[in-house]
Amino acid sequence: MEVISRFPNIGQTIFSKISALSNQKKAINLGQGFPNFEGDEFLYQRLKYYIDHGQNQYAPMTGMPKLREIVTLRHQEIYGNAVHPQDEVTITAGATVSIFCALSALVSPGDEVISFDPSYDSYTPNIELLSGVSKRINLTADFQIDWDLVKKTVTSKTKVILLNTPHNPAGSVLTQDDLDKLWDIVKDKNIFIISDEVYQHIIFDGKKHLSPFNDERMRNRSIAISSFGKSFHVTGWKVGYVLSSKELMTEFRKVYQFISFTTFAAPQSALADMMEKNPNYFQSLAKFYQQKRDFLRDGLSHTKFKVLPCEGSFFQLADYSEISDKEQNDFVMDLIDSPGVATIPISGFYQSAPKSQKVIRFCFAKTEEVLAQAIERLKTI
Ligand code: PMP
Ligand code: GLN
Repeated sequence: MEVISRFPNIGQTIFSKISALSNQKKAINLGQGFPNFEGDEFLYQRLKYYIDHGQNQYAPMTGMPKLREIVTLRHQEIYGNAVHPQDEVTITAGATVSIFCALSALVSPGDEVISFDPSYDSYTPNIELLSGVSKRINLTADFQIDWDLVKKTVTSKTKVILLNTPHNPAGSVLTQDDLDKLWDIVKDKNIFIISDEVYQHIIFDGKKHLSPFNDERMRNRSIAISSFGKSFHVTGWKVGYVLSSKELMTEFRKVYQFISFTTFAAPQSALADMMEKNPNYFQSLAKFYQQKRDFLRDGLSHTKFKVLPCEGSFFQLADYSEISDKEQNDFVMDLIDSPGVATIPISGFYQSAPKSQKVIRFCFAKTEEVLAQAIERLKTI
């Protein structure tokens, strides 16, 4: 009996690898993206309440009606886009599975999917599992999309453009100009857009989150993907949602029902109560993370790292070329050993990283105490 790997060249994800090493070496872990603080006590109480009151069997495949209602209400309040709570939203087991199901619903063997490097680690393996063709375009040196290059990359086989805004790891966000250029490219073609927006509420300096799904020109060809894990500091709950037009959602649900079918019921009701009780929660979330971003940026400005712009997400990139000539993986391994801070090499998010790039990612979803400790350590190099 021989096991023939579908992924002979893939091991553990960089996030798991760095977290394991960080634990082993007792470093401060600013690598993998998860908060080191708790979510809201009310949210936890409601979760316990629903478990104690019988919500322990399958939720409806499309998600708890109350959560779908409140998600669409808040979406309309924030973005002015009316979304139908029955037909246009599905609650899922987080963004990772949503991305796979969205791709599965759209990509047939040989179809091309354009994504942008540095890109989230699951995109290309997902496309390859579907026998699609992953066409990866590097973002520019300041982590923007080169739309001329996109235009040149589009062929008659292009089925999906896969976007991520706010961007992990770059922290850049799509602008109106980006959406206009995207529309220009797709308007007379049968190209769909999957937009990974798990950090949609973590956006800074008064900027507004822009999504192709909230742009009426592209609404009917877009699938927007979000995650409650990021917005409520509960990445371990693995609950998220997907928005799209009814027609696309029908196709999404056909796949999702056979991949996960549904997700953990009680957290869905708890999240609905939390969103109902706190109508301005998402606005306060942006302020909460902006403070952390500024704290880390200020701290890093007293080290030899050069901080790069960060408009959204809970990740900060920093250039280390004043500290070392080493390539990113080696530099990150050194940092874990001494001074004992774990980060992520962004070269792992590329098919072909720019040769001279000396950039690593810090996660600032951490208490100020932990960020301050990390900064003190980084000041020593
Ligand atoms: N997309 C991006 C850009 C992410 O950063 C993450 C996770 N950190 C995900 C998707 C996956 O989210 P989830 O945990 O809800 O599956
Ligand atoms: N998305 C998280 C990050 O970018 C990690 C999630 C994971 O470990 N798969 O760090």
